[in-house]
Amino acid sequence: TPPAERYEYQAEVSRLMELIVNSLYSNKEVFLRELISNASDALDKLRFLSVTDPELLKEAADLDIRIQTDKDNGIVTITDTGIGMTQQELVDCLGTIAQSGTAKFLKALKDSKDAGGDNNLIGQFGVGFYSAFLVSDRVVVSTKSPKSGKQYVWEGEANASSYTIREETDPEKLIPRGTRLTLYLKRDDKGFAHPERIQKLVKNYSQFVSFPIYTWQERGYTKEVEVDEDPAEAKSDEQDDKTEQKKKKTKTVVEKYWDWELTNETQPIWLRNPKEVTTEEYNEFYKKTFNEYLDPLASSHFPTEGEVEFRSILYVPAVAPMGKDDVINTKTKNIRLYVKRVFISEDFDGELFPRYLSFVKGVVDSNDLPLNVSREILQESRLVRIMRKRLVRKAFDMILGISMSENRDDYDKFWENFGKHLKLGCIEDRENHKRLAPLLRFFSSQSENEFISLDEYVENMKPEQKDIYYIAADSVTSAKNTPFLEKLTEKDLEVLFLVDPIDEIAIQNLKSYKEKNFVDISKEDLDLGDKNEEKEKEMKQEFAQTCDWIKKRLGDKVASVQISNRLSSSPCVLASGKFGWSANMERLMKAQAV
Ligand code: ADP
Ligand code: MG
Repeated sequence: TPPAERYEYQAEVSRLMELIVNSLYSNKEVFLRELISNASDALDKLRFLSVTDPELLKEAADLDIRIQTDKDNGIVTITDTGIGMTQQELVDCLGTIAQSGTAKFLKALKDSKDAGGDNNLIGQFGVGFYSAFLVSDRVVVSTKSPKSGKQYVWEGEANASSYTIREETDPEKLIPRGTRLTLYLKRDDKGFAHPERIQKLVKNYSQFVSFPIYTWQERGYTKEVEVDEDPAEAKSDEQDDKTEQKKKKTKTVVEKYWDWELTNETQPIWLRNPKEVTTEEYNEFYKKTFNEYLDPLASSHFPTEGEVEFRSILYVPAVAPMGKDDVINTKTKNIRLYVKRVFISEDFDGELFPRYLSFVKGVVDSNDLPLNVSREILQESRLVRIMRKRLVRKAFDMILGISMSENRDDYDKFWENFGKHLKLGCIEDRENHKRLAPLLRFFSSQSENEFISLDEYVENMKPEQKDIYYIAADSVTSAKNTPFLEKLTEKDLEVLFLVDPIDEIAIQNLKSYKEKNFVDISKEDLDLGDKNEEKEKEMKQEFAQTCDWIKKRLGDKVASVQISNRLSSSPCVLASGKFGWSANMERLMKAQAV
């Protein structure tokens, strides 16, 4: 037998383990959810690879998860026939911090401490493999990857700073493929080794796992057994001389035996009839699938038939991911693509959604795409173009739904988190301007604290007003104080305040809304319909020399100096040329040039 080699954990791992154990002590049962989710991921990976390499399945054709308990010794084993791990992968995956769930977990931990500590909340986090030590003194991972064909055993103990790896040579312990986890439970946690307890947890936590989960259960069936007849009774029996059978008496007994019992429902939620799925189920699915702890703001579940056939459930998250201010260049893994129920990848969201909608999460399951679908295939496929169109439309319907919610807070929340994305959409997706524009929100001269929609603006327009007025500035305060506003305020005309740098570019891309043009009130040709040509001519003549003089003094700093009826109390204002950049835009361009 080759000797076991000893390895040290990466420093952060020890800290994380300690954190997990200390903060989740009242939520220990999450360990099972975590380990099942790893098994399910490993099965997904194998199924995906086996599409192009069916040989992979020959060691074990069934893709499933089996959980066995030994209550006398306090042992739980979880076995999957997934992708397994090579020796190196054992070191990389179980000796260093796995990224995905961990950062979120640490953040939630901090948030919940700030909020007075709600352990239930943390319990909803993906804390990963190390949660096994919540309930175990010792964890043994025996695993075989088809890549190496060799089986390795990882062994670690709670509160230890190192672990060992050795090759498995005991023929009794060999598995065909995949991973077997053996948990040696802590004294106080041996209750988890009861089959009923495990069964209940699986039903509770893993109802959306799409591979069968079997648990080892004691079952019974009833059986009629013949018993010898009591001689005293026989005598009193009048029908003594009837058939031989009647003389014998039967008794019902329960025969006990142990067997694997299917414990979860494996039909994916998106294949179910939307009418029969509750909001709670959609929310649960969302939280489990995307490792989220807040319910989504909205969801949309729809089958699509006709030219392309696919099913999808889309979600709008409640909050934007933290630390991802750069909406444009952030790589997301928000859309899980399935082909005929086989999980393909979460890396194709860019092919299925425009990047400005990359915050939408969900699953898409297509019956028409080939199982070995690649990015190249997706990019060239006509079907995918149709899918993309439908998905985008559904996403807009869903967002529109939030905007029409009775609870105005919902959309405020949405706008705060994802407003930037929609503005980016105005720039990048001309085709959907009609869907985007009603979703935009702005402050205005008549609503400085609460966002208004363009519909609300139009509603509030004066009968003779033809255009939608806006001013771009770096804040509501500076927008409010601009001299350009004076005349419009006097006439009680509402002006949109574009205070986000991207606002102005978005509006300029839209050009108009409901046939009303967007007009920048800082541009020199602003026409408020109150021009008096005669008077203007007179004024121009009267002040021509003054203007010339000022122009001479300012030289190249200004393009021209003109008389205007734009102001009511300020004597003069710097306006942008008709075709020039607005002051705000100029500021932006300068900022970018730095
Ligand atoms: P995460 O699942 O978020 O990546 P975990 O801590 O749960 O983090 O798991 C760490 C890694 O260990 C996984 O990404 C995977 O590569 C590997 N792993 C864990 N369990 C299994 C398993 N049953 N089969 C194969 N690989 C596994
Ligand atoms: Mg995991």
